[in-house]
Amino acid sequence: MRRMIIIAGTALTCALAALLVVAALMGNTVEAAALDTAPGLQHALRTRQNQQNTAAPARAARTNNLTYHNGPTMRTTSTTYAIFWVPTGSYVSSTYESLIQRYFGDVGGSGLYNNNTQYSDTTGHIINSSTLGGSYVDTSAYPSGTLTDAQVQQEVSKAMTAKGWTASITHLFFVFTAKGENICLNSSTCSFTYFCAYHSHFGSNTLYAAMPYTGTNLAACGVSTSPNGDIDADSTINVTSHEHMEAVTDPLGSAWYDSRGNEIGDKCAWIFGTLNAAGGDVTWNGHNYIVQKEWDNKISGCTLTGP
Ligand SMILES: [Zn+2]
Repeated sequence: MRRMIIIAGTALTCALAALLVVAALMGNTVEAAALDTAPGLQHALRTRQNQQNTAAPARAARTNNLTYHNGPTMRTTSTTYAIFWVPTGSYVSSTYESLIQRYFGDVGGSGLYNNNTQYSDTTGHIINSSTLGGSYVDTSAYPSGTLTDAQVQQEVSKAMTAKGWTASITHLFFVFTAKGENICLNSSTCSFTYFCAYHSHFGSNTLYAAMPYTGTNLAACGVSTSPNGDIDADSTINVTSHEHMEAVTDPLGSAWYDSRGNEIGDKCAWIFGTLNAAGGDVTWNGHNYIVQKEWDNKISGCTLTGP
């Protein structure tokens, strides 16, 4: 689900007005339209259950391609930054951080990332290149049992300052939290009940993604196999891939999405490829991963190796 960009009260009014028009035109899809539009800049990946509840409109959405809305993409090499906010005494699996970093090192040049190259912005087509810019481990305590989006943003700023990282339309900061820690966008929009992860931005092109620990609730946010023998890491890598591909093609919510506001990953959420013997559906640099497909306008369908 992609959320409407709401910068000021006027924009909010427009978003609500647009919603009413959609509701009036589409009748029985009022509920889905309402679900597809929520306040804020964040763009969230629904839990498996949340996705299933809206399966019919989601299938309908798959019949229409992504269109371009004139904003920037992460057109040149996307540099990713892994921020692991793992307070002393909290839990992440023993290979969690290393496997996630390995994904960031493997995804550039892959068939999945190549799918992005069919999409462009006003300066040209996206190139198939991505690198891990660095990682940061923060063992300080969480301010509360449930983090707000503002607190996730503060963590991004903290890591940037500590590491000397800069904001850029090609830099993407991932905040990974430990098992049991929730993130809520408001009182009813929380990790594991509504979403598994989201990507957003603040300030001047500070792009980030909030990545709750999928192993907190694998029924909501997990994958079905574990090609790397670490179901928590394998599950988080899948939702990381979703947010990564979406940020590349729609970093500010103004580039590529369909007429319902669905981005490249939303249209194929929880749809995987054929599994190999290791339980992965892709093999990059000899490493297996299970990642969802992404939307390919050229075939008007979901793919792992586009275009
Ligand atoms: Zn999404």
